[in-house]
Amino acid sequence: ATPVAVMVGTGRAASMGIVVKGIEALEQVRHVDVVVFDKTGTLTTGRMSVASVIGPDEVLAVAGAVEVDSEHPIGEAIVAAAREAGPLPTAASFTSHAGAGVEADVDGVRRWIGTRRLMAEQGQTLSGELEDAASALEADGITAVFAAWDGAVHGVVGVADTVKESAADVVADLRGLGVEVALLTGDNSRTAEAVARRVGIDRVLAEVLPRDKQAEIERLQADGLVVAMVGDGVNDAPALTQADLGVAMGSGTDVAIQASDLTLVRGDLAQVPTAMRLAGATERVIR
Ligand code: ADP
Ligand code: MG
Repeated sequence: ATPVAVMVGTGRAASMGIVVKGIEALEQVRHVDVVVFDKTGTLTTGRMSVASVIGPDEVLAVAGAVEVDSEHPIGEAIVAAAREAGPLPTAASFTSHAGAGVEADVDGVRRWIGTRRLMAEQGQTLSGELEDAASALEADGITAVFAAWDGAVHGVVGVADTVKESAADVVADLRGLGVEVALLTGDNSRTAEAVARRVGIDRVLAEVLPRDKQAEIERLQADGLVVAMVGDGVNDAPALTQADLGVAMGSGTDVAIQASDLTLVRGDLAQVPTAMRLAGATERVIR
C-alpha cells in the first residue's frame, strides 16, 4: 500500500470510531481468515446477574461472603444478590484462582466457589442431582457457579449474562465477507455452546484458562490461519497481542486496548465487519 492510501483508510476508520494503531494494522485486516471473539463483555454485555440459586439459603450468603474481595463480574453479581437477601457473614483468608473461582473461610470453614473443575480439584463431591440442575442452567447459556465446603458441593448459583443485540447480525455479516468466526472463553463448554448457537458461531474454544488463551490463538495460526482476536478483558491481552490483528472493545480494560491494533471506540461489534470493508475499500483505492 502507498502511505497516502493507508492514511486515507486510517482517517476514515477514525471518523467511524475505529482507532487504528499503526498503518500495518489496517493492512492486516484484509488478510484475516478467522475472527475469534471473547465471550464475556465482547459478545455479551458482561453485566451479570444472579438468575437462580439451587440449594439451601446459606448457599447465596456463603458465596457472597467469599466473593466480597473478588474483582470478577461473576463475583460482583453474586455479592450484589447476596447483599439484597441479607447481611453477609465475614470471610477470612481469601484466595482467588484465575479462570476457576475463589475460596475463603466463612464461620471457620473453608469454602470454594467456582467451576466444576475447581470442585473436582479440591476434592468436593458433586451429587448427580446438583450436576443435573447445573447442566440445565448451562444448556440455557447460564454459567453454573458451584458452592462447596466439607467435601461436598452444597449448591449452585446460576449467573446470567446477556448476548449483545447486534451479535448475531455481526457474525452473519462476517460470514458473508468470507471470514470464519470462533468463540474463545474460560466459561464451561455447555454455556459457551448455548451462547454460540444463539449468535450463529459453530467453532467454540471453551474452558480455556486465562494463561492458555494465547496458545489457542497460536494453534490457529499454526494451521495457517490469519487470526483476528476481539476482546475486552485483562486476561485477553496476551491473546490480543498474539493475534495477527488484535481488536479491543473501547468499553474494555486499558490493558486490552494497549495490547490491540484496533480499538472500537464505542464498543460496537458492528465495527468489526465495518473495519473489514474499509480495509477492502482502501485496497481498491491503491490498485
Ligand atoms: P472469561 O473467559 O469469561 O473471561 P474467566 O477465565 O474469567 O472467563 O473465568 C472462567 C470461569 O471461571 C467462569 O466462567 C466462572 O465459571 C469461573 N470463575 C472465574 N472467576 C470466578 C469467581 N470469582 N467466582 C466464581 N466463578 C468464577
Ligand atoms: Mg471478556
